[in-house]
Amino acid sequence: MKKKRLRKRQLLEKQKLDEKKFNRSIRIVFGILFLSLISILIFYTYWCDTKYAWRKIAWYRNEVPGNQCCMNEDKLQFHESAEIVFDDKTYYFCSKECFNHLVKHYKEVAIVSDAFTGDLINKADAIIGLKEKNKPEIVYFKNIENFNQFYEKVNE
Ligand SMILES: [Zn+2]
Repeated sequence: MKKKRLRKRQLLEKQKLDEKKFNRSIRIVFGILFLSLISILIFYTYWCDTKYAWRKIAWYRNEVPGNQCCMNEDKLQFHESAEIVFDDKTYYFCSKECFNHLVKHYKEVAIVSDAFTGDLINKADAIIGLKEKNKPEIVYFKNIENFNQFYEKVNE
């Protein structure tokens, strides 16, 4: 009789222990799921910021693709810009307003000085580079030689 009771108690204790273990596993699984979800959300929310911050550094001294710039504001854009052909030349803009502004002030906006030589060039034909590391401002160059010399000069 005593033995039987003892066994019953042991069994109950074992059950309790199993339950505890199970609860712990569940908590860990849910914890991992929760953390993953938060990470994904953060990743998607800040992905553009991260990319933008990285480009402002990594693209310094490298040719910047036109479709990441606004040629009216002369700035690197957060998102890909719109390609618009105007007067047989391809320009990139962040908005319709920026395009309209360039059309309205064509000579002042579309024509720019080469950042190294000062020669007047059309932005659509230019090589684009970052003016300073970690800054969104862009500058234009007539050719790759001017482009390279500009950054060499900065290095001195
Ligand atoms: Zn713009």
